[in-house]
Amino acid sequence: MAGINGGTTLAGVIGWPLGHSLSPAMHNAVYAELGVDWVYVPLAVPDEVGLRRVVAAIRSLPFVGFNVTMPYKAAILDLCDEVATAAQMAGAVNTVHCSDGRLIGYNTDGRGLLEALERDAGFDPAGKSVVILGAGGAAGGAFVALILARAERITIVNRDISRAEQLLDRMAANTGRIDVAVCSYSDAEKAIREADLVINATSIGMRPGDPCPIPAQWLSSTQVVLDMVYGTVEPTALVTCGMAVGATTLDGLGMLVCQGATAVDIWNGASQVRTPRETMLHAARSEIDRRVAEGAPPR
Ligand code: NDP
Repeated sequence: MAGINGGTTLAGVIGWPLGHSLSPAMHNAVYAELGVDWVYVPLAVPDEVGLRRVVAAIRSLPFVGFNVTMPYKAAILDLCDEVATAAQMAGAVNTVHCSDGRLIGYNTDGRGLLEALERDAGFDPAGKSVVILGAGGAAGGAFVALILARAERITIVNRDISRAEQLLDRMAANTGRIDVAVCSYSDAEKAIREADLVINATSIGMRPGDPCPIPAQWLSSTQVVLDMVYGTVEPTALVTCGMAVGATTLDGLGMLVCQGATAVDIWNGASQVRTPRETMLHAARSEIDRRVAEGAPPR
């Protein structure tokens, strides 16, 4: 960061832990490409007391914005001055814009998901049947994005069914004519077999040796299978099972890049310059390769 000086603008990511984060590599690479005098720093805070202190400090510092990751995507909502409608619906903020002394929260995970599906699989969810595995923050962002993209049917499958029902209830007023349902894994076979798109928004797959979250025989060659998990050395079990049946498979790296690039688009709004996705993807891949070469697990 040879260019850091008294006028450098700050950006960063708040979360815990952050050792695995690819965001500093992706963001700093793209800032260099855009020629902006910005630097992106990891802000590892272990608890919500720390979160509140860091957010208060950010208000006094020259931040253009910051990302928020696990486990604070819900807790940050109350610390923002304004929250975009899609982020309110998802119950999760992953991007905050510091604008005129105000903190404005967005959810770019959902937008990143749609962009990655379009870009990397040519998939448009309009009129399609979708299954989301998981009911946490990432699933909420996906659910909202798929509603806005006018999917025809969305089924949320979760271990804790009450959490899936809460997600559905929060969205009830916005689902319109979309057929929405929740179910447990044991009741999910029909919905998954009939789905055009299967999304893993659980944390299964993050650890080496994690199993496939669903039986492989429920997948088929006509489907798109997107696993939000990214940065693993080997493809996740879900991606491996999807590939084995000839499905179109995507890991979470494309989504990660698109959510990060959308955050920079928001922060850099005035410039009207679209953030180059390829630069961020290349930086993320290089960072994964570097960690593997050094024997440090990418996650
Ligand atoms: P949360 O902690 O909010 O939610 C985790 C989800 O995983 C819950 O639905 C939980 O189910 C489920 N889960 C965890 N363990 C199991 C298990 N053993 N069996 C079944 N279900 C399980 O996490 P997030 O929503 O923030 O993140 C989920 C994943 O998405 C992570 O891998 C994260 O890295 C990834 N992600 C990727 C992004 C990208 O850009 N590619 C962006 C954001 C997230 P339950 O409710 O029953 O406990």
